[in-house]
Amino acid sequence: MAAATKASPLVLGLGVLVLILLGASGYSYYALAKSAASLTEAQSQVRDLTTKLANSETDNAQLSEALQTEKERNDDFQNQIDDISGTVGKLDKLSKIDPELLEKYSKVFFLNENYIPSKLTQIPQRWVSNAEDEYFHAQAWPFLEDLLDAAKDDGINLTVVSGYRSFDKQKVLKGAYTVTYGTGANAFSADQGYSEHQLGTALDFSTKETGGALDGFQNTTAYDWLADNAYKYGFILSYPPNNTYYEYEPWHWRFVGKDLADYLHDHKKHFYDLDQRDIDTYLIDLFDN
Ligand SMILES: [Zn+2]
Repeated sequence: MAAATKASPLVLGLGVLVLILLGASGYSYYALAKSAASLTEAQSQVRDLTTKLANSETDNAQLSEALQTEKERNDDFQNQIDDISGTVGKLDKLSKIDPELLEKYSKVFFLNENYIPSKLTQIPQRWVSNAEDEYFHAQAWPFLEDLLDAAKDDGINLTVVSGYRSFDKQKVLKGAYTVTYGTGANAFSADQGYSEHQLGTALDFSTKETGGALDGFQNTTAYDWLADNAYKYGFILSYPPNNTYYEYEPWHWRFVGKDLADYLHDHKKHFYDLDQRDIDTYLIDLFDN
């Protein structure tokens, strides 16, 4: 009994220690289990977040693809609008240029008797070789003026003997030629309505070298200068030697625009040898510099 009594504080102490240890490990186990649960939960949350992130990345990719598609659609639309406004601009420009100005007129090609150029300008008298008032197409005049100035700068005497001729004036002129030359005038002066002069963009040059006469013009330095340089100002020789449309007229030049004159010069071709459809493609650039 006494031993038991003696031993009991020790047992008690051990018991307490065991209890403490049990309690502590119990707590540790509890804490550990709790952490494990937290960890599982956290892992689950990470998984959730990863899934959400992946989903939102997919959404983002889809959105950016949709955005790209929309952007391309917009660009296409913008291009279409640009194309349309380009076409409208070209049509507008073309609508302001008289298509007659690049059409063929000779014994073979007829010009409507009612045709009148939209606007004429008087050629300053210092360039005219007679006492008459001579007129030229207002939009083509700056090109003719540049040509006359350039010839003068090169020491070439070049004047205008005849510019615009109305249908009626051509009729009178033809009548006068017919009286003087008889039926030979058919090859010499165009019938009214067949003359490029009615366009306002054709003219006959003259020079002091021939005393102002048309005859012999092809043997002058003025003619040589025109043959070398007129295309730079948009002018061409309408009826060259041996053409099938008209008599050779070395003094008679026509404004067809710089682009077409360049093309004819580069390819050694003549206006009347081209197909009208090919000529017409140059109409839009007729008055371009
Ligand atoms: Zn002429």
